[in-house]
Amino acid sequence: MPFGDFSGSGFCGNAAAVGQLRRLIASGGMNRAVLLAGPRGVGKTTLAILAGLALNCQAPPAPGDFCGHCPSCAQLDPAWRDLPGMIAAALAFREQQAKTRAKDAAPLVLAVHPRISIYPPDGDFLTLPQARLLSERLQGKTAAGEFTTVILPGFDQARWMVQNALLKTLEEPPPRTCLLPLARNPMELLPTVRSRALQVSLGPVPEAELVAWLERQPLEPPVGGWKVIARLAQGSPGLAVSEDWAAYRELREQALALLAAGLNPGDPRSLFELTARLFPPGRAGKEKLESLTEILYSLLQDILYVTAGRAAAIRNWDCRAELAALASRLSPRHLSRAIAEADQMAAAAQRNAQRGLALEAWALRLSRGSSAAWA
Ligand SMILES: [Zn+2]
Repeated sequence: MPFGDFSGSGFCGNAAAVGQLRRLIASGGMNRAVLLAGPRGVGKTTLAILAGLALNCQAPPAPGDFCGHCPSCAQLDPAWRDLPGMIAAALAFREQQAKTRAKDAAPLVLAVHPRISIYPPDGDFLTLPQARLLSERLQGKTAAGEFTTVILPGFDQARWMVQNALLKTLEEPPPRTCLLPLARNPMELLPTVRSRALQVSLGPVPEAELVAWLERQPLEPPVGGWKVIARLAQGSPGLAVSEDWAAYRELREQALALLAAGLNPGDPRSLFELTARLFPPGRAGKEKLESLTEILYSLLQDILYVTAGRAAAIRNWDCRAELAALASRLSPRHLSRAIAEADQMAAAAQRNAQRGLALEAWALRLSRGSSAAWA
């Protein structure tokens, strides 16, 4: 029986990691820190919550699993499937309650179950008041027959001071307590944190497996089918179901137009019009630029795949015809230069309020592909 089958669809992919956790749960080996490592949207938080559920299940159907309907499992807050929504609600509530120094006065913590709590980044990362609150709460004893689960998303982003503050707790959690730090890049954790936690790694879910899982979800199939979305999500089920793919495609249209305009040296006007539309003067647009830059990178990467004859690796599969057309106009040397220049463009645009300008300058340089500047 797959972990989490009570929802009808089960946990998506990463059978080895799931098996490793189930064996730990069944053998009583979870009174420790377990680091879940893996890319964005691959299911680290979901798996951590399901582990917390299994640790408290009163009628596990299989060793290390959970039933989904015993008195303990029934206490899981249905809102757990929308954690961003839960976080937004908690922050809005805090905003009403505490006007000053809110982060210190009311550290952000979510309870998805009486015995499962999540300390998500408050702003960009976990704060010291959150770490203090966590240590404080763990002083309380966990009753016999119950297990406390603490989930720390994005722990690799936490400042070292904050990681350090939790070192002792990570090394030796109180009885019947499991700490689950989550990390995209475990190498960014303090080495002392890494050495104290048992690492369970999750990887991208293979395309066929992800498509099969998506087809079992109670969701409307997207335009072009789930295969296209599975490709775009790069093996991340969370991303596949939560990303606004319509908005992604809209922005990607602009990115493709920008590339095409950049490759059309005779007519810079269309380029200026495009950047002015994307970034009207006086608007901040930082997030939009970050998304656009990410899309530009993925398109350039795809063009590299087209050039190298590796069609199977193309991420933006649904616009492979446009990619092939662009590839025919960019030499491999020109292309690698365009990618390097995109790094500079992204950095410049981060600093510069006039984001359209940085983009424009980059596209203009693209148009000089055949000239000495790119040689
Ligand atoms: Zn149960």
